[in-house]
Amino acid sequence: MKVLVTGGTGYIGSHTAAELLMSGYEVVIVDNLSNSEASVAERIARITGKNPAFYIGDVLDEALLDRIFSEHKIDAVIHFAALKSVPASMSNPLLYYHNNVSGTLSLCRAMHRYEVKNIVFSSSATVYGISDDKPIGEDAPLSPKNVYGNTKLMMETVLTDLYRSDPEWNVTLLRYFNPIGAHESGLIGEVPAGVPGNLMPYITQVAAGLRPHLNITGTDYDTPDGTGVRDYIHVVDLARGHIKALENSRGLGIYNLGTGRGYSVREIVRAFEEATGVKIPCVEAPRRPGDLACYFADPSKANTVLGWRAEKTLHEMCADSWRFAKSYYGKA
Ligand code: NAD
Ligand code: UDP
Repeated sequence: MKVLVTGGTGYIGSHTAAELLMSGYEVVIVDNLSNSEASVAERIARITGKNPAFYIGDVLDEALLDRIFSEHKIDAVIHFAALKSVPASMSNPLLYYHNNVSGTLSLCRAMHRYEVKNIVFSSSATVYGISDDKPIGEDAPLSPKNVYGNTKLMMETVLTDLYRSDPEWNVTLLRYFNPIGAHESGLIGEVPAGVPGNLMPYITQVAAGLRPHLNITGTDYDTPDGTGVRDYIHVVDLARGHIKALENSRGLGIYNLGTGRGYSVREIVRAFEEATGVKIPCVEAPRRPGDLACYFADPSKANTVLGWRAEKTLHEMCADSWRFAKSYYGKA
């Protein structure tokens, strides 16, 4: 079975491409390298001993997609290619709607031309946009709070309507919670562009000596230690969820991919220090505007229907994040 992975040199796409190859799938990657490096394709080959086919280009380029679909008999597409920065999406909404939504339309049109009707789509827990102490199920109200989240909900709508127009499609919408960690080889991982907005990349840059301290953004939330709680999931577990989705999801399927357990910022810092032996200086800082106190998944639908469950521990998430960052930042 041959799978087209859009955004396959990016953080989650590269881990998924590696897991696919290790599971016996053939992989074709298309990525415009707007947020990743070409060397990732070679690193995937080093990890797996197998070469993915690799096209450098844009999913908005329909001529390129025609070339890919005519050069390969694609059975399914996993669609990661998107821009993902919340602040950048607020300052440049047209770029985000064009890249993410028009990119998805372009891809779906090509799939339609070549009668490829299986797609797994990278959605996000950000489509829910609610704060609650209860785990979030797939039927929670949808209410994104930023342009990035709006693009995700729009793409979900496009794909849902496509399925409704032709039930031969298999459309799986995977709503990720907070991916962290890296491949245990240390060869692929998350490379943030500019100042990291997310917690774990910021912590690894502090550990690498690139930043003096972590700002804990919000210490007066209504949570056990006052800091924000999120559902962190190891990126390799997340990648494996895509394979389970390819194998077990039929028709229209919507699944949360998370662990079902939340950790606070202080718990993450402590776990990182224990896993790596590196001290993370912290400074208490104001809340980020629009941030939620506590946000974690109910992953039971993915557990039962897809037969998938996150298995890796917080210790592994921290140790693996650091192994990659240490080597990437030249501290190994
Ligand atoms: P990433 O930026 O590392 O990977 C995305 C890849 O897509 C990059 O390599 C980029 O170069 C490529 N790309 C972007 N636009 C493209 C285009 N028009 N044509 C071809 N390639 C293009 O991001 P990631 O963290 O791996 O995220 C993958 C997907 O998962 C994205 O759709 C993202 O929105 C979604 N997601 C990510 C998170 C997260 O926290 N990382 C959470 C929820 C959902
Ligand atoms: N956070 C923090 N310092 C940072 C970045 C994030 O304290 O430099 C906190 C943030 O307030 C939230 C948690 O870490 O409570 C996770 O933030 P992240 O941006 O990684 O995920 P998101 O909030 O988008 O789910």
